[in-house]
Amino acid sequence: MKSYRKELWFETSTRRAFINITPQVEEALRESGIEEGLCLVNAMHITASVYINDDEPGLLADYEDWLEGLAPHEPISGYRHNRTGEDNGDAHLKRQVMGREVVVAVTNGKLDFGPWEQIFYGEFDGRRRKRVLVKIIGE
Ligand code: ZN
Repeated sequence: MKSYRKELWFETSTRRAFINITPQVEEALRESGIEEGLCLVNAMHITASVYINDDEPGLLADYEDWLEGLAPHEPISGYRHNRTGEDNGDAHLKRQVMGREVVVAVTNGKLDFGPWEQIFYGEFDGRRRKRVLVKIIGE
C-alpha cells in the first residue's frame, strides 16, 4: 500500500472565505501516483472547515448568511469563549457546523465524485496562514 501526505497553505485577505480546493487535491492525487484508494482532506485548524458541495455563487452567499444567522461574529461579547481575549467564538461554531474533513474514493486515479461535488476550504477566522492536510492511501 502506498501513502502520500501533503499540506496545502491558505491565507485569506478576509475573515471569512470559501475556496474551491479541488484542483489542489487533484494535483496531490497525481503526485501520489495512487490509482485505487481513499483521499482524506481535513482542516488543521479549529476555526476552518473542509466540506463538499456545489461551486455555485448563490449557494456560497447563502452559506455566509446562514452561518451569520446561526453564529453572528458580533457582538464579540456574546461568546463566553471570547472571554479568553480571542474574538473568534463564532468561528469555532461555524467550523463545527461545516465540518472538519471529507473522504473521497479514488478510482482509476481520479477523485470519484458525485454530480457537482467539489471540495471546499471554509475559512471563518482568516487573515493568517492556515493549513489543510491531504492524506491519500491505496495502490
Ligand atoms: Zn478561539
